[in-house]
Amino acid sequence: MPSLVEPSTLYLVATPIGNLADLTARAIEVLKAVDCIACEDTRHSRVLLESYGVGTPTTSLPAFAEGARAEGLVERLKSGQSLALISDAGSPAISDPGERLVAECVAAGVRVVPVPGPSAVVAALSASGLPASRFHFLGFLPRTQSEARAMLDEVAGLSATLVLYESPRRVVETLLLLHEVLGDRLACVARELTKLHEEFLRGSLSSLHQTLAARGEVLGEVVVLVQGRAPGARWSEAEVTAALTAGLARGERLKTLSNELAKAAGWPSQDVYRLGVSMKSR
Ligand code: SAM
Repeated sequence: MPSLVEPSTLYLVATPIGNLADLTARAIEVLKAVDCIACEDTRHSRVLLESYGVGTPTTSLPAFAEGARAEGLVERLKSGQSLALISDAGSPAISDPGERLVAECVAAGVRVVPVPGPSAVVAALSASGLPASRFHFLGFLPRTQSEARAMLDEVAGLSATLVLYESPRRVVETLLLLHEVLGDRLACVARELTKLHEEFLRGSLSSLHQTLAARGEVLGEVVVLVQGRAPGARWSEAEVTAALTAGLARGERLKTLSNELAKAAGWPSQDVYRLGVSMKSR
């Protein structure tokens, strides 16, 4: 029988995001057949590998050391070894180690093969009830409020569903920020996907904020999804402010800019103008 894996090839193997049964048959075969498995955390992955009887040697590729270790792995691949990469959960390289290693393999002409499977972004989106044919994945928002706000300003005008990863400790605060910047859109918080306490909370951003804030502590892992801008929807003040800031920085005249923005934002032009004047005087 021909081997399932080829020499000098990196396999990106998706692993369960909670439910251990979500490892594909092909993933198991590939993990058994490669020369070595690079793990985000070897101790964490041992549980999964042992439960499937995978005895392949492992090496570690933690996020903080990916830059330093990627080159060595590319050398091993070039010398003929086959490697698999797994992260702690889900698809490698999606907000997880792998992006850099893959880029270096591509640059070195090393073959990269995906072995697809679970990923929280796709699982959450598919069951969210929000439009799923077009989405914009933000990964984790930047840590500082100002950087997070700037990133949201950038995507506020998109009609695609927005999807982001968030820590349970920050999700309440993030829902508030999303409401502030994007307006009170429909949204979904997908919590503990594929696990015992899986939960989908659906509603407006303000109602989701209220529900989760009332819990005191949010447990488990979460994905936040927000409906894209509806065509012709009225812009929030934060969106108009962001567009004014960008236009003024380009040197446009406030009067002209206000007239143009008013049409797109669904605002009276004198209100946009007034906001621009108040920004200039701050
Ligand atoms: N590479 C992974 C993937 O493909 O889904 C994502 C890794 S990222 C470091 C971890 C984040 O993914 C969590 O903070 C959470 O936002 C999301 N996540 C992972 N597993 C989840 C689950 N079972 N339920 C909800 N969100 C999950």
